[in-house]
Formats: sequence, C-alpha cells, structure tokens
Amino acid sequence: MTTKLRWRSLVHTAALLAALLPTTNADAKKANTYYSDAEIAAIRARATQPKFLQAFEALRAKADPIASKSDEQIWSMIPDADLPRALNVRFGVDCPVHGQEVFKVGGHYPWIMSEDRPFKVQCPVGREIYPSNDFESYWKSGQKEKLDTTQKYVDDGHGWVDEKGERYWFVAYYVFWHHWRLVILDGSTAGAEMYLLTGDAKYAHKAAIVLARLTQIYPQMDYKTQAYHSGKWPAGINGRILDYIWENFTVSNFARAYDIIYPALDGDDELLRLIRAHGITNLKRDVEQNLLQFAVRDVMAKRIWGNKFELGTLSTLALVLDNRDPAQGVTTEQMVEWLLRGDGELEFTFYNGFDRDGMGGESAPGYSSIWNQRIVDAAENLTRLGVDIVKDPKWLRIARAPSELCLLDKLSPRLGDCEGDIKGAPRLLDPSLFRFGVAHFNDAYCADLLLKSRKPEDELLSRQTIDESRLTELASATPSPKSPQTRNLGGYGLAILELDDGAETRSASLYYGSSEASHGHRDRLTMSYHLRGRDVLTELGYPSHWGPVADYWVRNTPSHYCVMIDNNAQPTKQTGHLTQFADLRGLKLAEAQAKDVWGGAAQDYRRMLALLDTEEKSSLLIDAFFTEGGSAHDYSFHGLPFGAFSYDGKLVREQSKGTLAGEEIEFAQDPGGGRASQGHQFFMRPRWYEPQDVTRLKWRDDDGLNMDGWFPRFAFDEVVVADTKPPVKPGYPESMPYVLLRGKGEANRQSLFMGIIAVDHGASPVTKAERIESDSPKAGGAVVTMKSGRAWRLYVNGTGRRVHYRDGSASDIPFVAMLMGDASRQLKAHVVGSGRYEGSLASFELPPEKALTVQSVDYAAGRVALDGVAQSGQVVVSSNNNHHASLTFASVEQAGASFSTGLITGRFLARWDAQKKHVVAGERTGGVYNQFVARSFVGMVMVSEDLRHTATITGHDAAANNFTVDGDGAAFTDIDNDGRSYVFIADIGPGSTLMATPAKTIDRFPKEP
Ligand SMILES: [Zn+2]
Ligand SMILES: [Zn+2]
Repeated sequence: MTTKLRWRSLVHTAALLAALLPTTNADAKKANTYYSDAEIAAIRARATQPKFLQAFEALRAKADPIASKSDEQIWSMIPDADLPRALNVRFGVDCPVHGQEVFKVGGHYPWIMSEDRPFKVQCPVGREIYPSNDFESYWKSGQKEKLDTTQKYVDDGHGWVDEKGERYWFVAYYVFWHHWRLVILDGSTAGAEMYLLTGDAKYAHKAAIVLARLTQIYPQMDYKTQAYHSGKWPAGINGRILDYIWENFTVSNFARAYDIIYPALDGDDELLRLIRAHGITNLKRDVEQNLLQFAVRDVMAKRIWGNKFELGTLSTLALVLDNRDPAQGVTTEQMVEWLLRGDGELEFTFYNGFDRDGMGGESAPGYSSIWNQRIVDAAENLTRLGVDIVKDPKWLRIARAPSELCLLDKLSPRLGDCEGDIKGAPRLLDPSLFRFGVAHFNDAYCADLLLKSRKPEDELLSRQTIDESRLTELASATPSPKSPQTRNLGGYGLAILELDDGAETRSASLYYGSSEASHGHRDRLTMSYHLRGRDVLTELGYPSHWGPVADYWVRNTPSHYCVMIDNNAQPTKQTGHLTQFADLRGLKLAEAQAKDVWGGAAQDYRRMLALLDTEEKSSLLIDAFFTEGGSAHDYSFHGLPFGAFSYDGKLVREQSKGTLAGEEIEFAQDPGGGRASQGHQFFMRPRWYEPQDVTRLKWRDDDGLNMDGWFPRFAFDEVVVADTKPPVKPGYPESMPYVLLRGKGEANRQSLFMGIIAVDHGASPVTKAERIESDSPKAGGAVVTMKSGRAWRLYVNGTGRRVHYRDGSASDIPFVAMLMGDASRQLKAHVVGSGRYEGSLASFELPPEKALTVQSVDYAAGRVALDGVAQSGQVVVSSNNNHHASLTFASVEQAGASFSTGLITGRFLARWDAQKKHVVAGERTGGVYNQFVARSFVGMVMVSEDLRHTATITGHDAAANNFTVDGDGAAFTDIDNDGRSYVFIADIGPGSTLMATPAKTIDRFPKEP
C-alpha cells in the first residue's frame, strides 16, 4: 500500500516519469546480462588460482556476517525504513568526553564498531563505549521493552541528549556504518560475489533473502526524513538507505547482486517457502519493480546522483534490467538515451566536462577521477548493450589522465578538496582505467601501469580478461615516462617542474586552474614543492568538516600560497593561463597569469616559478609573484608542516590573544562586517616584525629536512607571523606557523614578492642572500651565495620592458639566473624570455622565438600544419583575441606537428541561423560542471560537424544562448544528417599563432676586456 502511495506522489512530483511506470505484473529480465556465461566461467577459473587465494578468503570473510546467519535471522536483522541512520555521532564534535580529538586519532568517521558489540560505538581516544544501554534487546522487543536508564548515555535509536541539549547519535551511527553499510549492503554483495566465484548455491540463497526483504522496505526508505547528516536532523537531502551520492553504490550493488544470483533463483524451494511466508509471490518481479526500477526513477529524477556516479549507476541498471518492454517500466533503450543525451549528459560531459588532458571537472584530483571511473564504467556497460561509444581518442586520455597527474612518479598534486594528509597524497592509480586503456586502445602506458597497480582483490571479479603475455609484451614495448619529467597540463591547468640535482629528485607545481567547480579552492596560482616522496610546501586539502572553517580558511585564498588584494580572497575560481614555460637542463620555469580571477580588480596577477639546479647537489625554488591593482597586497607563505620554525627579525608588536581580525576575535569567530571571507580570524596571536633587506625564515628538522626561505624586500613593510590550525585529521600538525608579507600604500599598487626556497637534508647550501633592487616595483633580484663561494645572481622582471638594477645592470629579460665563479667570473646563465641583459660582468641577448602560424588543422588526428619548425616536447601558448591556451607538441613531422592532447575542447548542439546570422545553441553552453562556466568563448574557434570548416567566435550571448562568428556559418549544420547538428569548440584553428618561450643556457661568454 505504502509502495503504491509513494509511486503516486512520485507521479505528482515528476509528471515526466508517469509514462514510464510499469503497467503489468510480470518480470522483464530473462537471463544474466551483467556477467556473460563466458565471463562467469573465466572468473570461476580465476577463483581457484593460488594467487587469488587471499583475495578470495577476504571476500568470504566479508560475506560471512550474512552467510553464517539463519534465513529468519537475516530477515529480522534488516530494519524497517524508519530506524534512523546517522553519518556522524555529532557533527564536528562526535565524542561527549574527548570532543574533536577523536578526528585527530580516528579520521573523519572515527568510531570503532564490531559485530560483538551490536549497536555500540567505541571512542578511539578513551576507548569508552556508547550508549550505556542494550539497544539490541530493546529493538528486538519491538521497542516495547523498558529502556535501561541506570547509566548515563541512554540511546533509544534517536540519540542521547546531553545537559546542554546537544544530541549524540550513537546507535544511528552504528546503524548507518556497521549495520547497513558493512553487514547488510557489503555483506550481501560479497555473498552474491561468492556465488559468482564458486557457484555455491548457499551464497545465492542468502543474498536472495536480503534482496527479498529489501523489496518490502526499500520504497519507504527516505534519507531526507530518516537520517542525521552533516549536523542536520532530519537530513533534508535526498537518498534512500544512504545519502544520494552513496546510494549509487547501494543500488548498483543490488543490481549486480541480482544479476549474479539470477540463475540460482529458480529451483530454490526453501527460498520460495520463506518469501511466501513473508508475502512475496514473485521475487523477480518485486526485485525488478520495487528495487531496480524504483532506483532507475530515482536516478532519472536526480534523487540518486552526484560526482557523475549516476553514469555508472544507470548504465548498470540498464544492463541488468535488460528491459525491452515499456509495460515493465523504463526500458533499457530509454535509459541509454537518457544517459547519452538526456539529463545523464554523458556526451555533453565527455566533450565539455573532461578537459583536453582527460581529467574530470571537479578541480580536486580524487573527485575529478571519479568522473573518469564512472564514464568508463558506463562505456563498458553500454558496449555490452551494443552501444559502442568508445571511438574518440579522448577516451584514452580519460583512461590515462588521473595517473598522469603525478609528481615524482609517486604523489598526486594536492589541490582542492583532495585526499592524503599534509605530507602528500599517493598517485592515483586505478586498474579499471588501465584495463579500459588496454582493452580499447592497446595502450602501452596503461599496460605498464596495470601490471604495477593491479591487485588480486580487484582483478578477481573483473569482467575483462586480458591475455597475460600480451600485456607484458605491450608494457615492455614502450617504456612509460619517469620522473623527473617537467611538463605542462594545459587542459587541467597545472605546470609541473621536475629535476634531479644529483642529491634529490625534486618537483614543484604551479596551479593556474581548472574551470570553476565546487570541490576547487580559491587557490589560483598556488604552488607546491615535493621531494623524498612527500610534500614540503603543503596544501590543507579536504576540510575536516564543511562549514565556515572550510569556507573561510581551508578552501580560501589566505591558506594557500597566494596574494590577497585589499585584504580580499580571490572572489572567483576562474581559470588562469600559462604565459611562459622553459625546460632547460639546469632550470625549469613556468609562469601563469590569473588576473581574471579578480573580476577587474587586478590588471596583473601572475606567478613565475622556477626550479634551479645550483650545481652543488642542491636546488633553489625561486618564486616571483607580480601583482597590479588595489592598494594593499598580502603574500601568504607557510613552510614545512612539522619541526621548529624561527625568524630572527626585530619584533615590533605582539598580540597575545585573539587573531589578526582583532584581539577580541577568537580563532574561526566571524569578525562581523562582512569580513569573514578575508580569513584574518584564522591567524592566531599575530606577531609583527620589522622586515629586513632579505627576510630569512627557517624551518628545522621535519623528518630531518630543513627549509630556508629568503624573501628580498621589494613590496612589503610588515612581516606578520601567526599560528594557524590545519584540519583536525590524522597526519596533520596541531598548528602551523603562517607568514604574511604585507605591503600597502598607493592606489593601483604594483608589487613583486620574491622568495628563494631551499629544502635539504642537513645544512642549507646557501650562506647568504642579498637583495638587488631595481627602478621598477615589478622587477628585482638577489645574489645567492653558495657554500662553495660561488654565487647565483637572479633577476626577475615582470614589466615587459627594460629596467635598471641597483647593481648597475639593465635588462628587459623576464628571468636570468647567472652563476658567478671565483673573482666574480660568470660561468653560465640560464635565460628565459627574450631581451638583452647588460651588466658590468657580462652582456648577452636572447632573440624572440618566431611565432608559428597554423596553416591547417586536422582535428581528428590532433595535428597541425605549420609555417615553421616545431620541436618535440615544446610547450607553446596561443593567444587569440584574449583567449589563451597552452599545448605541447608530442611529435614533430615535416612542416607540422601533433599534440599531446586532442584539439577539441567542447561540443554543443548548435545550428547556423542564416537570417539572424548567428549560431543558435540547442543545449546549455556553460552552467555548472563543465569547462565553459565562465562562458569566455570569444577568440575560440568553432569547428563544423565534419571538422572541415572553422570560424572564430566573436561573441556569445549567454541569455539568448547563441554565438556570433567571423564570416559565413553555413557549414554549422547537420552535415551527417543524423537529426542532430553539432559544432565543436577548439582553442586553435587555421591562422592561430603558437609561441614558445625563448630559453637558453649560455655557458660561453666573450672574453672580458
Ligand atoms: Zn571519547
Ligand atoms: Zn587548497
């Protein structure tokens, strides 16, 4: 009855789906479809091999809590829908005795639970157990038994309330995590998988009982009203047993389990007797209608949704249901259409959501890679349904991208709401993506990483069987690139600088930004630094909890290596662009511009980051941050996260309490007046120091590492040191010192912040650093004297014109690092950017690179014909009417080159309107979760459906959703006559110019006069 009512209300809220409701009472599915018979045979053969024994036993243990119970025990252990589930015991606090300390010890979800202590949670700090009453017997009595209130922490399933009225959801936390997730959901899935591996009917029988019981309660499951989530009761967000994101796993697993045990359902008389006793006459029909079709409608109504999980979920349901009959509910064909071109937006996301490098669009690497996994899942399922969508080579980029986003072959860059801890996150290696790359593209890189990353537990159940000898052969054919590997990911927006100085392999990164996404931070132009398999310039990453501390501190500009203008955080998350890139033997350099992030408040917001091999088995990280706009610039910096920090400047003033926001404003307290987003309330006990000509900051002995930072004074009048708190999580320090270099004064201020960072095991390789001033606020330098007595003279010039330095030299070159030997004899100079340097010791010139003009483009092959000679591995930038892009030549052929990524950046349904002379879009262009959030199309190239005709986009009317282009747009029509007219969007086209950064190491100087 309840089921029917719920369905009716569904019809009211989503009239669209009314036509999709089933009208007969039969079951639709006829056979197992998720795993073919041949695949089942291959999996069963695998299960007997010794190398899978451990994985097999682990799965058996996971299945055991369900498999070891009697049929009736299973039936009665599955609670009614209204038993509350809680994601946290108490959001942000959790333990009534130990408070937040539990997160430090136990992580985000810290409580210890076990089958031996049903409905109890144990604190990881004090090991005390909650609640004090026996909930299980109370629950089993139908909640009629009197509650045991002899001790303090009594929980009737709706939490225990303390003296202040704060509620702690002990039982509900257990119900969410242990009872539902671990035992019932994971346990029954593992049971079905054990049947898949062994064919042992006992496992299918037990899993079937779980599914049978679920058919009766699932339609009443309503997370919105039955759960405590992120501090809210009721949760107020969609979901069924779990929340709307995790429910993707729930229903995908139901579907898979049903498909696995399907052949065993007929002929299990014991099962038939049991379910009849509980009122079920047609189990297949009930599973298909009350669970699977119910989930289908939830996904299509976006009630089960998020992080592109829905792609994997609905394609699994489509494959398992295998429904060709509209009378049986939503047909598989309807699901496929919805996935590809309906609200599932698979095609839209493939072209517009994934960047050119192949990363999903969430900014944070881990979240972004979920897109990669799910779209590949969907592609695999669709292929089995006869819908082959894997044609475009971008699919291979999608298989490779998460693992290519690596530092030192081991780490993943920590950006946005990322994983890992303050010392780093492991490289993203997903065997399912590699398997896809091998199966569809015979890709050697994927084969190599599959061999290195696969684990028996994930391979055991894989649908794909790859010939072992072929895999090894493929992997050895083309060796995968290894660090050090300096490169630019122009689609994702990250430049990675790596070198081996003989003592260490080092990696530094400059992030100029993916498109705006909710898991991204306000961090454009932030940097990172890595060596010895860890981060040394660090990122706070995933907040310990959502809320003001996350918004105004962890995810906000001041906690990153950025400059704040007029005390403000970056107001948007717009993407920046690469401006210079150099990969010389002893010097790696990248520069990026991100002024658009300030929405007009900055005329220049640019970071130049260089990694210099000192040639003394050490390296210097050289930072130069140019800012123009506003009247106050604050440069934020923090060093090694553990160990001792010191600064020996002269203390001017000390504030013993409160924060930078005021003596009376405590950590994280809103300072009022709309100042929360400035983030000053997170800088505790600020100390003001007088700046020196070169401010030297020291971090000592973190894992035996020492860090020294030298900051020549160009643009700041104050050095503020303050204590801050990183997220309360394992692997993070209690507090971290942050340094703000602050300068203010004239309106439309121009500034240069320069930093020279040395991180080494043992003593610093630098003995002295002296400032070189210039006649411009955006140029300066330093003389860095090394232990050997040799010195590096560094000059940075962000003005684009000739400046005079106080050491008597003059130059318009953006970056010079000159090595001086004994008696001030110049030994070599790394020069990046064209221009002329004139000094008393040396003079040299670097001519500009000749711009390469694109003659024609083969968009399908990612190849261009050029009017000049390109170099393999070269990074080039194109700037077309203020649209900027950076690309890498992967291989060079006569009068042309191929790129490391495809050249298509987007695709929309659109058609030329000959009367109005514009291109009218037939779907959204921009909006959320794609690369065109900022809708800055002008200067991009529109390409016709057959990839033959191009025009430059001259305007985009977001309200009317149309484009203007230069010239005739008649080619922008449905050329292949499939009823859909598409246009492609590209960064470059015929006539675009590609510029490489001039860079050279000069090691022969003319004889001194
Ligand atoms: Zn405790
Ligand atoms: Zn961040």
